Amino acid sequence: MKFGWTADHHALHKRRMFQSLALASSILFSVPGSTGGIPNVDALSDRGVVRFDAPADMAARPRKRLHSITVPIPAASRGVALPRVEGVNDGARPLVVIDAGHGGHDPGAINKENGRREKDVTLAIAQAIRDQLVKSGRVRVALTRNDDRFLILEERYGIARKLGADLFISIHADAADNAEAHGATVYTLSETASDREAARLAARENRADIINGVNLGGQSGDVSSILIDLTQRESLNASASFARLLQREASPLMPFRSSYHRFASLIVLKAPDIPSVLFETGYISNGDDAAFLSSREGQDRIARGVARAIEVHFARQLATHGTAARN
Ligand code: ZN
Repeated sequence: MKFGWTADHHALHKRRMFQSLALASSILFSVPGSTGGIPNVDALSDRGVVRFDAPADMAARPRKRLHSITVPIPAASRGVALPRVEGVNDGARPLVVIDAGHGGHDPGAINKENGRREKDVTLAIAQAIRDQLVKSGRVRVALTRNDDRFLILEERYGIARKLGADLFISIHADAADNAEAHGATVYTLSETASDREAARLAARENRADIINGVNLGGQSGDVSSILIDLTQRESLNASASFARLLQREASPLMPFRSSYHRFASLIVLKAPDIPSVLFETGYISNGDDAAFLSSREGQDRIARGVARAIEVHFARQLATHGTAARN
């Protein structure tokens, strides 16, 4: 990918690289004197534009069809206000953060026939899950975004960390060249991908930050490997058991793929202390899946499945640890 840098952007890029390193060290090491959270992004400039020679779904296209687009650096990257926590008014109850993937100038995957966009489907599903959880009254819930806005990947799990979330679920819809591909998949974090398809998916989902004009990960394309700290193992085990639970509880209500649990180095799952999954709820590139994901009934079925899994997850924690809180 070729970037057309302006002088402003050279300085911005250097600051971003520094923040990226700070982020990596805050995760890998406990830096004395550091706040340990995500790096401060409030100081970022939003001047200028970054020009790059690739559309959003560039990997899927043959090279000769690439064209040049100009993307303004959005105000959103200057820092986000924490979202409202909804549901039962009891701070002792577990807090679930639901993340609607993509948004704003990043549409995510698009169905070529009917133009349905991943960012709209993920928001509707996230809101349906929120409503279901509020209705059941057993947990507290917050959405990383409740409208059509862009957030960088670090901001998404950063919100969960700042709120002290006990579980993080990032909602997405998959896409494949093969229009027959359908069904849901649950991804959990791993340094290496479980298979080539998982590696390609990670490259595609991690590209949300590149669409923002600057690659905060400091890595390009499919190279985005992630180092996992030993302290993260417990979260990874909890994430994997939630992935299995999600399939068990939701599969009576919605279709899953036969190998439904995969591993990949997904930036949005990097919070070291919060069990996190990325839920590819189906294929927006498949006609039946796209209709299901876009329908009120489909969204409600997904929401009921996710809510059931969340309730069993915290009931198990309560039984094992005597507390539903993060341990
Ligand atoms: Zn996505």
